[in-house]
Amino acid sequence: MQSLTSRAKAVERSPMTFLEQLYLWNILKGMFITFLHIFKKQPTIRYPEQKREFSRVFRGLHVLNRDSEGRENCTACGLCAVACPAEAITMEAAERLDSEKHLYREEKYAAKYEINMLRCIFCGLCEEACPKDAIYLSETFTPADFARKNFIYNKSDLLIPHRINQAEELSAAKGL
Ligand code: SF4
Ligand code: SF4
Repeated sequence: MQSLTSRAKAVERSPMTFLEQLYLWNILKGMFITFLHIFKKQPTIRYPEQKREFSRVFRGLHVLNRDSEGRENCTACGLCAVACPAEAITMEAAERLDSEKHLYREEKYAAKYEINMLRCIFCGLCEEACPKDAIYLSETFTPADFARKNFIYNKSDLLIPHRINQAEELSAAKGL
C-alpha cells in the first residue's frame, strides 16, 4: 500500500518475555505503584472541615461596590456587560432623583443588575472593564444550589452591605 507521508514508520514489537506473558506479574507491578501512593501527600481537601488557601489572584463571587459615603458606585454604563464573553450580565439603567443623591454616586444608576452565575466563567473582564471601580470579584465562591433560578444573582445579592446602615452584615461578609 502506498504511504501518504515519507515519515511513516513501521513499529517493531519485541516479543513478550516470559514474565510479561504471566499477566499476574503486571498486575503486581500495578498494585505496587498503587501501594507507593499511600505514602504520598493526599491532594484531597476535606471540605468543609478544611478550607483551600486561595491564590492572591483568585476570582470568585462578584461584589458591587460602594464609595466611602456608602453610595452605589455603578453608573449603569454597561461596559461590564459588553466586555463579558459569556453574556452573563444584564442591567437596566435609571436616572437618579435629587432626593437619591445619598444613594447613588452618579446621575445614572443600575435599577436592575443581574449576573447569571451558571454562565459566568469568572474571567474578571467585567472588573477590568469597569471605569467606576464598581464591580470586583471576591474570594468567596458561589454557594451550591439545586435550582437554576437561584444562580441568577440580582443587585441585592451582589451589593456590598452599607458600612453604617448594615455594619453587622458587612462584618459578616468580610468574615470578621
Ligand atoms: S467574570 Fe467574566 S464571565 Fe463572569 S460576569 Fe464578569 S466578564 Fe462575565
Ligand atoms: S459595574 Fe462598572 S462597568 Fe458595569 S455598568 Fe456599573 S459602572 Fe459600568
